[in-house]
Amino acid sequence: MKLHTTFRIGGKADYYVEPVYEEVKPLFSFLMENNIPYTLIGNGSNLLVSDEGIEGVVVSFGTNLSEIELDGNMICAQAGILLSRLGAFALEHSLAGLEFASGIPGTLGGAISMNAGAYGGEMKDVVRFVTVLEKGEVKRYSGNEMEFSYRHSRILGSDSIVLSVEMELKEGNPSEIQGLMKELNQRRVDKQPLNFPSAGSTFKRPEGYFAGKLIEDAGLKGYTVGGAQVSEKHSGFVINIGGATSKDVCQLISDVQRIVKEKFDVELEPEVRLIGRF
Ligand SMILES: Cc1cc2nc3c(=O)[nH]c(=O)nc-3n(C[C@H](O)[C@H](O)[C@H](O)COP(=O)(O)OP(=O)(O)OC[C@H]3O[C@@H](n4cnc5c(N)ncnc54)[C@H](O)[C@@H]3O)c2cc1C
Repeated sequence: MKLHTTFRIGGKADYYVEPVYEEVKPLFSFLMENNIPYTLIGNGSNLLVSDEGIEGVVVSFGTNLSEIELDGNMICAQAGILLSRLGAFALEHSLAGLEFASGIPGTLGGAISMNAGAYGGEMKDVVRFVTVLEKGEVKRYSGNEMEFSYRHSRILGSDSIVLSVEMELKEGNPSEIQGLMKELNQRRVDKQPLNFPSAGSTFKRPEGYFAGKLIEDAGLKGYTVGGAQVSEKHSGFVINIGGATSKDVCQLISDVQRIVKEKFDVELEPEVRLIGRF
Protein backbone atom coordinates (compact mmCIF):
# COMPACT_ATOMS: atom_id res chain seq x y z
CA MET A 1 0.00 0.00 0.00
CA LYS A 2 3.00 2.33 0.25
CA LEU A 3 2.70 2.64 -3.53
CA HIS A 4 -0.86 3.91 -3.17
CA THR A 5 -0.50 6.46 -0.37
CA THR A 6 1.13 9.89 -0.38
CA PHE A 7 2.77 8.99 2.97
CA ARG A 8 4.57 6.09 1.19
CA ILE A 9 3.75 3.88 4.19
CA GLY A 10 1.78 0.65 4.43
CA GLY A 11 2.07 -3.12 4.04
CA LYS A 12 0.26 -5.32 1.56
CA ALA A 13 -3.44 -5.49 0.83
CA ASP A 14 -4.74 -9.03 0.41
CA TYR A 15 -6.35 -7.89 -2.88
CA TYR A 16 -6.34 -4.57 -4.72
CA VAL A 17 -8.84 -3.60 -7.42
CA GLU A 18 -9.49 -0.53 -9.54
CA PRO A 19 -13.00 -0.98 -10.96
CA VAL A 20 -14.53 0.88 -13.90
CA TYR A 21 -17.89 2.58 -13.23
CA GLU A 22 -20.07 -0.31 -14.45
CA GLU A 23 -18.23 -2.76 -12.18
CA VAL A 24 -18.69 -0.80 -8.96
CA LYS A 25 -22.22 -1.93 -8.04
CA PRO A 26 -21.70 -5.66 -8.79
CA LEU A 27 -18.30 -5.57 -7.08
CA PHE A 28 -19.66 -4.21 -3.79
CA SER A 29 -22.71 -6.54 -3.96
CA PHE A 30 -20.32 -9.47 -4.34
CA LEU A 31 -18.14 -8.32 -1.45
CA MET A 32 -21.12 -7.75 0.85
CA GLU A 33 -22.95 -10.98 -0.06
CA ASN A 34 -19.80 -12.98 0.65
CA ASN A 35 -18.87 -11.06 3.82
CA ILE A 36 -15.50 -10.12 2.35
CA PRO A 37 -13.95 -7.17 4.21
CA TYR A 38 -13.17 -4.20 2.00
CA THR A 39 -11.63 -0.75 2.26
CA LEU A 40 -12.37 2.03 -0.20
CA ILE A 41 -9.64 4.53 -1.01
CA GLY A 42 -9.20 7.45 -3.38
CA ASN A 43 -5.73 8.89 -3.92
CA GLY A 44 -4.54 7.75 -0.49
CA SER A 45 -3.61 11.31 0.49
CA ASN A 46 -5.23 11.31 3.91
CA LEU A 47 -4.32 7.80 4.99
CA LEU A 48 -1.91 6.08 7.33
CA VAL A 49 -1.92 2.40 6.37
CA SER A 50 -0.64 -0.19 8.83
CA ASP A 51 2.73 -1.88 8.24
CA GLU A 52 0.79 -5.16 8.62
CA GLY A 53 -1.29 -4.28 5.56
CA ILE A 54 -5.03 -4.47 4.99
CA GLU A 55 -7.27 -7.50 5.31
CA GLY A 56 -9.56 -8.25 2.38
CA VAL A 57 -10.02 -6.13 -0.71
CA VAL A 58 -8.83 -2.58 -1.21
CA VAL A 59 -11.02 -0.87 -3.78
CA SER A 60 -9.39 2.16 -5.34
CA PHE A 61 -11.34 4.82 -7.25
CA GLY A 62 -9.00 6.66 -9.57
CA THR A 63 -8.59 7.27 -13.28
CA ASN A 64 -11.11 4.52 -14.12
CA LEU A 65 -13.79 6.64 -12.49
CA SER A 66 -12.96 10.12 -13.61
CA GLU A 67 -15.46 11.13 -16.28
CA ILE A 68 -16.58 14.72 -16.18
CA GLU A 69 -19.49 16.58 -17.82
CA LEU A 70 -20.62 20.16 -18.05
CA ASP A 71 -24.21 21.43 -18.01
CA GLY A 72 -24.31 25.23 -17.87
CA ASN A 73 -22.66 26.17 -14.56
CA MET A 74 -23.00 22.63 -13.20
CA ILE A 75 -20.13 20.16 -13.34
CA CYS A 76 -20.94 16.49 -12.83
CA ALA A 77 -17.89 14.31 -12.17
CA GLN A 78 -17.22 10.75 -11.12
CA ALA A 79 -15.70 10.16 -7.69
CA GLY A 80 -12.21 9.10 -8.80
CA ILE A 81 -11.31 12.33 -10.57
CA LEU A 82 -8.40 14.23 -9.02
CA LEU A 83 -9.24 17.66 -7.62
CA SER A 84 -6.38 19.14 -9.70
CA ARG A 85 -8.08 17.88 -12.89
CA LEU A 86 -11.44 19.10 -11.71
CA GLY A 87 -9.93 22.54 -11.05
CA ALA A 88 -8.33 22.59 -14.51
CA PHE A 89 -11.69 21.68 -16.10
CA ALA A 90 -13.45 24.48 -14.21
CA LEU A 91 -10.78 26.93 -15.36
CA GLU A 92 -11.09 25.77 -19.01
CA HIS A 93 -14.80 26.61 -18.82
CA SER A 94 -14.32 29.92 -16.94
CA LEU A 95 -16.11 28.61 -13.85
CA ALA A 96 -15.15 29.94 -10.42
CA GLY A 97 -15.56 28.31 -7.00
CA LEU A 98 -13.11 25.40 -7.05
CA GLU A 99 -9.88 27.41 -6.85
CA PHE A 100 -9.41 26.47 -3.17
CA ALA A 101 -9.48 22.74 -4.05
CA SER A 102 -7.16 22.60 -7.04
CA GLY A 103 -4.02 22.09 -4.91
CA ILE A 104 -5.48 19.39 -2.62
CA PRO A 105 -3.94 16.09 -3.77
CA GLY A 106 -7.07 13.94 -3.39
CA THR A 107 -9.94 12.58 -5.44
CA LEU A 108 -13.41 14.06 -5.49
CA GLY A 109 -14.83 11.09 -3.53
CA GLY A 110 -12.23 11.47 -0.78
CA ALA A 111 -12.81 15.23 -0.68
CA ILE A 112 -16.57 14.76 -0.29
CA SER A 113 -16.16 12.17 2.44
CA MET A 114 -13.83 14.51 4.45
CA ASN A 115 -15.47 17.79 3.31
CA ALA A 116 -11.97 18.82 2.27
CA GLY A 117 -11.21 22.51 2.44
CA ALA A 118 -8.49 25.11 2.26
CA TYR A 119 -8.03 28.89 2.28
CA GLY A 120 -11.60 29.61 3.34
CA GLY A 121 -13.32 27.22 0.89
CA GLU A 122 -14.86 23.78 1.54
CA MET A 123 -16.44 21.19 -0.73
CA LYS A 124 -19.81 21.89 0.87
CA ASP A 125 -19.81 25.37 -0.73
CA VAL A 126 -20.09 23.97 -4.26
CA VAL A 127 -21.80 20.59 -3.88
CA ARG A 128 -25.44 20.41 -4.97
CA PHE A 129 -26.02 16.65 -5.26
CA VAL A 130 -24.05 13.53 -4.41
CA THR A 131 -24.89 10.13 -5.88
CA VAL A 132 -23.93 7.30 -3.55
CA LEU A 133 -24.11 3.54 -3.35
CA GLU A 134 -25.59 2.56 0.00
CA LYS A 135 -26.31 -1.06 0.95
CA GLY A 136 -26.49 -1.97 -2.74
CA GLU A 137 -28.89 0.89 -3.63
CA VAL A 138 -28.02 4.00 -5.63
CA LYS A 139 -29.25 7.17 -3.85
CA ARG A 140 -28.91 10.88 -4.57
CA TYR A 141 -28.49 13.31 -1.68
CA SER A 142 -28.74 17.09 -1.85
CA GLY A 143 -25.84 19.11 -0.41
CA ASN A 144 -27.94 19.84 2.71
CA GLU A 145 -28.59 16.16 3.29
CA MET A 146 -24.84 15.43 3.25
CA GLU A 147 -24.40 16.68 6.86
CA PHE A 148 -21.19 18.49 5.96
CA SER A 149 -19.20 20.05 8.78
CA TYR A 150 -15.49 20.64 9.43
CA ARG A 151 -13.65 17.66 7.82
CA HIS A 152 -16.81 15.57 8.10
CA SER A 153 -19.82 14.38 6.09
CA ARG A 154 -22.44 11.66 6.48
CA ILE A 155 -20.18 9.45 4.30
CA LEU A 156 -17.20 9.36 6.67
CA GLY A 157 -17.15 6.23 8.80
CA SER A 158 -20.32 4.88 7.09
CA ASP A 159 -20.61 2.22 4.38
CA SER A 160 -21.72 4.76 1.76
CA ILE A 161 -19.71 5.01 -1.42
CA VAL A 162 -19.61 8.25 -3.39
CA LEU A 163 -20.12 7.52 -7.10
CA SER A 164 -20.48 10.99 -8.59
CA VAL A 165 -20.99 14.59 -7.58
CA GLU A 166 -22.85 17.54 -9.10
CA MET A 167 -21.29 20.91 -8.29
CA GLU A 168 -22.63 24.37 -9.04
CA LEU A 169 -20.03 26.98 -9.90
CA LYS A 170 -20.20 30.63 -10.93
CA GLU A 171 -19.24 32.21 -14.22
CA GLY A 172 -15.88 33.85 -13.70
CA ASN A 173 -12.97 35.52 -15.40
CA PRO A 174 -10.41 32.90 -16.51
CA SER A 175 -7.36 35.02 -15.71
CA GLU A 176 -8.72 35.76 -12.21
CA ILE A 177 -9.50 32.06 -11.64
CA GLN A 178 -6.04 31.06 -12.83
CA GLY A 179 -4.41 33.84 -10.81
CA LEU A 180 -6.09 32.68 -7.60
CA MET A 181 -5.17 29.03 -8.25
CA LYS A 182 -1.54 30.01 -8.81
CA GLU A 183 -1.48 32.18 -5.70
CA LEU A 184 -2.94 29.45 -3.48
CA ASN A 185 -0.62 26.81 -4.92
CA GLN A 186 2.35 29.11 -4.34
CA ARG A 187 1.25 29.48 -0.69
CA ARG A 188 1.35 25.68 -0.41
CA VAL A 189 4.84 25.54 -1.92
CA ASP A 190 6.04 28.29 0.46
CA LYS A 191 4.48 26.88 3.66
CA GLN A 192 4.18 23.10 3.25
CA PRO A 193 6.89 20.41 3.19
CA LEU A 194 5.86 19.20 -0.28
CA ASN A 195 9.28 17.65 -0.96
CA PHE A 196 8.62 14.91 1.64
CA PRO A 197 5.89 12.25 1.63
CA SER A 198 3.07 13.07 4.05
CA ALA A 199 -0.69 12.86 4.44
CA GLY A 200 -1.15 16.61 4.75
CA SER A 201 -2.21 18.12 8.09
CA THR A 202 -1.87 15.39 10.65
CA PHE A 203 -4.34 16.87 13.14
CA LYS A 204 -7.66 18.65 12.86
CA ARG A 205 -7.74 22.30 13.85
CA PRO A 206 -8.76 22.39 17.51
CA GLU A 207 -11.37 25.07 18.18
CA GLY A 208 -9.67 28.40 18.89
CA TYR A 209 -6.16 27.15 18.07
CA PHE A 210 -3.94 26.03 15.19
CA ALA A 211 -2.49 22.55 15.59
CA GLY A 212 0.84 23.52 13.97
CA LYS A 213 1.32 26.51 16.30
CA LEU A 214 0.55 24.44 19.42
CA ILE A 215 3.02 21.76 18.32
CA GLU A 216 5.71 24.34 17.57
CA ASP A 217 5.10 26.15 20.89
CA ALA A 218 5.41 22.80 22.66
CA GLY A 219 8.96 22.62 21.28
CA LEU A 220 8.18 19.71 18.98
CA LYS A 221 9.29 21.14 15.63
CA GLY A 222 11.64 18.54 14.15
CA TYR A 223 10.68 15.91 16.76
CA THR A 224 11.54 12.55 15.23
CA VAL A 225 10.56 8.93 15.82
CA GLY A 226 12.33 6.53 13.43
CA GLY A 227 11.60 7.80 9.93
CA ALA A 228 8.69 10.03 11.01
CA GLN A 229 9.26 13.69 11.82
CA VAL A 230 7.30 16.80 12.76
CA SER A 231 8.18 18.94 9.75
CA GLU A 232 10.66 21.77 10.38
CA LYS A 233 8.84 23.77 7.70
CA HIS A 234 5.29 23.32 9.03
CA SER A 235 4.73 21.70 12.43
CA GLY A 236 1.18 20.66 11.46
CA PHE A 237 2.63 18.09 9.06
CA VAL A 238 4.22 14.77 10.01
CA ILE A 239 6.57 13.79 7.19
CA ASN A 240 8.27 10.59 6.13
CA ILE A 241 11.97 11.45 6.05
CA GLY A 242 12.84 7.96 4.79
CA GLY A 243 11.66 4.48 5.69
CA ALA A 244 9.00 5.61 8.20
CA THR A 245 6.73 2.85 9.44
CA SER A 246 3.14 3.21 10.60
CA LYS A 247 4.41 2.36 14.10
CA ASP A 248 6.81 5.35 13.94
CA VAL A 249 3.99 7.68 12.92
CA CYS A 250 1.57 6.33 15.55
CA GLN A 251 4.21 6.72 18.27
CA LEU A 252 5.01 10.25 17.12
CA ILE A 253 1.29 11.19 16.98
CA SER A 254 0.69 9.88 20.48
CA ASP A 255 3.80 11.68 21.87
CA VAL A 256 2.66 14.96 20.27
CA GLN A 257 -0.88 14.53 21.63
CA ARG A 258 0.42 13.82 25.14
CA ILE A 259 2.88 16.72 25.25
CA VAL A 260 0.43 19.26 23.79
CA LYS A 261 -2.22 18.11 26.29
CA GLU A 262 0.26 18.46 29.18
CA LYS A 263 1.46 21.92 28.11
CA PHE A 264 -1.74 23.55 26.83
CA ASP A 265 -4.58 21.26 27.93
CA VAL A 266 -5.74 20.89 24.31
CA GLU A 267 -6.69 17.54 22.77
CA LEU A 268 -5.37 17.06 19.24
CA GLU A 269 -7.53 14.80 17.12
CA PRO A 270 -5.91 13.14 14.08
CA GLU A 271 -7.24 14.23 10.69
CA VAL A 272 -5.28 11.42 9.04
CA ARG A 273 -7.31 8.19 8.82
CA LEU A 274 -5.67 5.03 10.17
CA ILE A 275 -6.58 1.96 8.15
CA GLY A 276 -5.55 -1.69 8.06
CA ARG A 277 -4.40 -4.13 10.71
CA PHE A 278 -3.58 -1.81 13.63
C1 LIG B 1 0.53 17.66 0.75
C2 LIG B 1 -0.92 17.51 1.17
C3 LIG B 1 -1.73 18.63 1.30
C4 LIG B 1 -3.06 18.50 1.70
N1 LIG B 1 -3.84 19.62 1.82
C5 LIG B 1 -5.12 19.50 2.20
C6 LIG B 1 -5.94 20.67 2.33
O1 LIG B 1 -5.54 21.78 2.09
N2 LIG B 1 -7.23 20.48 2.74
C7 LIG B 1 -7.75 19.24 3.01
O2 LIG B 1 -8.93 19.14 3.36
N3 LIG B 1 -6.99 18.13 2.90
C8 LIG B 1 -5.70 18.23 2.50
N4 LIG B 1 -4.94 17.10 2.38
C9 LIG B 1 -5.50 15.78 2.74
C10 LIG B 1 -6.19 15.03 1.57
O3 LIG B 1 -5.61 15.39 0.32
C11 LIG B 1 -7.69 15.30 1.52
O4 LIG B 1 -8.33 14.92 2.73
C12 LIG B 1 -8.37 14.56 0.35
O5 LIG B 1 -9.70 14.98 0.26
C13 LIG B 1 -8.35 13.03 0.50
O6 LIG B 1 -8.77 12.48 -0.72
P1 LIG B 1 -8.25 11.05 -1.21
O7 LIG B 1 -8.91 10.76 -2.52
O8 LIG B 1 -6.78 11.01 -1.22
O9 LIG B 1 -8.87 10.12 -0.10
P2 LIG B 1 -8.14 8.92 0.69
O10 LIG B 1 -7.03 9.48 1.50
O11 LIG B 1 -7.84 7.82 -0.25
O12 LIG B 1 -9.34 8.50 1.66
C14 LIG B 1 -9.77 9.38 2.69
C15 LIG B 1 -11.13 8.91 3.20
O13 LIG B 1 -12.09 9.10 2.17
C16 LIG B 1 -12.79 7.87 1.93
N5 LIG B 1 -13.14 7.84 0.51
C17 LIG B 1 -12.30 7.98 -0.55
N6 LIG B 1 -13.01 7.90 -1.71
C18 LIG B 1 -14.31 7.70 -1.36
C19 LIG B 1 -15.53 7.52 -2.08
N7 LIG B 1 -15.57 7.53 -3.42
N8 LIG B 1 -16.68 7.31 -1.38
C20 LIG B 1 -16.67 7.29 -0.02
N9 LIG B 1 -15.56 7.46 0.73
C21 LIG B 1 -14.40 7.66 0.06
C22 LIG B 1 -11.81 6.78 2.32
O14 LIG B 1 -12.50 5.58 2.63
C23 LIG B 1 -11.15 7.40 3.54
O15 LIG B 1 -11.95 7.24 4.70
C24 LIG B 1 -3.60 17.20 1.96
C25 LIG B 1 -2.79 16.07 1.80
C26 LIG B 1 -1.47 16.22 1.41
C27 LIG B 1 -0.62 14.99 1.23
